Amino acid sequence: MVIIIELTKRQEMILQIVKEEGPITGEQIAERLNLTRATLRPDLSILTMSGYLDARPRVGYFYAGRPEGNVISERLHKLKIQDYKALPIAVKESASVYDAIVTLFLEDVGTLYVVNQKGYLAGVVSRKDLLRASLGKKALEEIPVSIIMSRMPNIVTVSPDESLFEAAKKLIDFQIDSLPVVRPTEEDSRSLELLGRVTKTTIVKVFVELGQEPSV
Ligand code: ADP
Repeated sequence: MVIIIELTKRQEMILQIVKEEGPITGEQIAERLNLTRATLRPDLSILTMSGYLDARPRVGYFYAGRPEGNVISERLHKLKIQDYKALPIAVKESASVYDAIVTLFLEDVGTLYVVNQKGYLAGVVSRKDLLRASLGKKALEEIPVSIIMSRMPNIVTVSPDESLFEAAKKLIDFQIDSLPVVRPTEEDSRSLELLGRVTKTTIVKVFVELGQEPSV
């Protein structure tokens, strides 16, 4: 979880003073701000616990730089879907549930996108959609995926210029595993061209990449 702390005006002022004059004691900061040490105590603990300030006994407060959490948050908002999307794996609306299950195994994915005759996004079938269909008595070769898929316009999508953070948020908010990366077509903005996929695996890979970066 990324915790972003919004600083109050007073906390910003404290940071400014410590940046310019640190090491500086709590008493001295209080004096500069015309406040009592007791009034400042909660602000100083927040700033120390969140990593903005370092406190050394009998020396005072130092500016420690921006806390790690905010750096991670900034990075995640800058990483674009465009640079991390994987290839979309799609089947036609007329494909059978049987074909979809085979494709799922061959392509080693958990979700398939379904496209209409023009190749535009028509829906999504997940593992559980296919399992549910398999519980029925009907032959799987005879059920078209278009009958069991979640369909447009209720498909949650992302565009290539959205951030990985926005994608991760959609995956969590809508409780789904996969997001089609799409671009509206020129002739009709409701028709979506399929450009790629972003899944929970995409997000986990980036998480690992960020974790492996050497700290500076
Ligand atoms: P699973 O069903 O295998 O756990 P999901 O959690 O991704 O996989 O899917 C849950 C349900 O949401 C399924 O019925 C699926 O069709 C639907 N679904 C999956 N992805 C999307 C999406 N991007 N937009 C709308 N519905 C989706």
